Amino acid sequence: MSCYRPEAPVMSPAVANPHDHNPFALMQPRVPVVTPKEARNGARVIANDVAPQGVYLPDYNVLTPYMRSPEYVQMSTAAAITLGVTPGRMYRCECTRCLNLLLTYPEGCRANCAYCGLARHREAERDYADRNFIRVDWPAVPLEKTIDIVARDGAASPFHRMCISMITHPRSDADTRTVLERWTARIDPSVIPISILSNPTTMTREDVKRLRDLGADIFTVALDAATPELFERTRGKGVQSPHSWAKYWEILHAARDIFGPQKFGAHIIIGMGETEAEALALVQQIVDLGGHSHMFCFFPEKGSLMDHLPATPRDQWRRVQLARYLIDYRDVRVEQMRFDGEGRVIDYGLPPGELDAIIDAGVAFRTSGCPGKVAEDVSACDRPYGDSPPSNIASYPFAPAKRDLVKIRRDLRIAKRK
Ligand code: SF4
Repeated sequence: MSCYRPEAPVMSPAVANPHDHNPFALMQPRVPVVTPKEARNGARVIANDVAPQGVYLPDYNVLTPYMRSPEYVQMSTAAAITLGVTPGRMYRCECTRCLNLLLTYPEGCRANCAYCGLARHREAERDYADRNFIRVDWPAVPLEKTIDIVARDGAASPFHRMCISMITHPRSDADTRTVLERWTARIDPSVIPISILSNPTTMTREDVKRLRDLGADIFTVALDAATPELFERTRGKGVQSPHSWAKYWEILHAARDIFGPQKFGAHIIIGMGETEAEALALVQQIVDLGGHSHMFCFFPEKGSLMDHLPATPRDQWRRVQLARYLIDYRDVRVEQMRFDGEGRVIDYGLPPGELDAIIDAGVAFRTSGCPGKVAEDVSACDRPYGDSPPSNIASYPFAPAKRDLVKIRRDLRIAKRK
């Protein structure tokens, strides 16, 4: 997404990390500052009375209270380029295969997750539509214009999947349903299947069911944090945010019951302070429930409460990335793997020849997420450079080439066998 600014300077003076992994003690978020009253709840934007004009690119600085879902949605820069509503080119990618539609409101997301660029504590600093999220800008586009383009392209659409991403807002559930209804009225969900990236905090089991009944194919829950302690620290009371681990699991279990096997998943961010053993135990737990995990490499998002912390070292990330793929798609169990005293993977539980073949196939190192039209283990949601700069790719948005595999093996410290 951000290949036209390949070396985005996203790290504030980072904490020096002497480790080859990000330990819990190091990954402490900053305390959120109190937002002045006059900037709360999108007050600056709401005070204006300007109608939005077509596509809004971040930093236009047009304060328009009417640019809100369901009439408007935000989409990643990669999706906007692929849709043709903004110019640009992406490093080594033709397009993205997933059209992610993020609900948008001048009041923004009411949660305060420590690693997230959309978090509430940024109210005083940047208006919602101008905030960066997973390293890139998110243009706001009229929903009808988006649907018109995709409906016009029909089966020739470059998109293999559409995903509605909810945020924490009182209108989020109702507007997700409206977006889904307007989309499916014109676009066949069997041609472009639909995922929901949910916001469990505002949802009930009945809400999950309604989304299935309206045509959603896959339902995901962004746990993001891999343990209850990390969740509380980064998404709960630790940062004055409303989320709870128990509520997220309640909705994840509802998704399993309602959407069924292989049709639900959980997002996990690696490198926020969990051990590799903890992250992979969670991956196994989700596979045992019948779902998949979609993984992100922690990157210090500019403006977030964790922007002073180090990105996940590549060796930690690669070990977890490979092990997660084995558990999700190659029937290896976490109990077959071995870990050292700090929870690092030291044995993947497979004979070296088999492991070699899987590394060389490269799929394990591609972006993980809901599948598209290529294969079950190849994600439509390729999020180009959403978790790393293009100069040191964490999740490959394309099939890694030979030169990429050389680097991957170096990260893993696994030499190719003769
Ligand atoms: S709920 Fe989602 S969008 Fe809102 S702050 Fe948390 S991670 Fe960001």
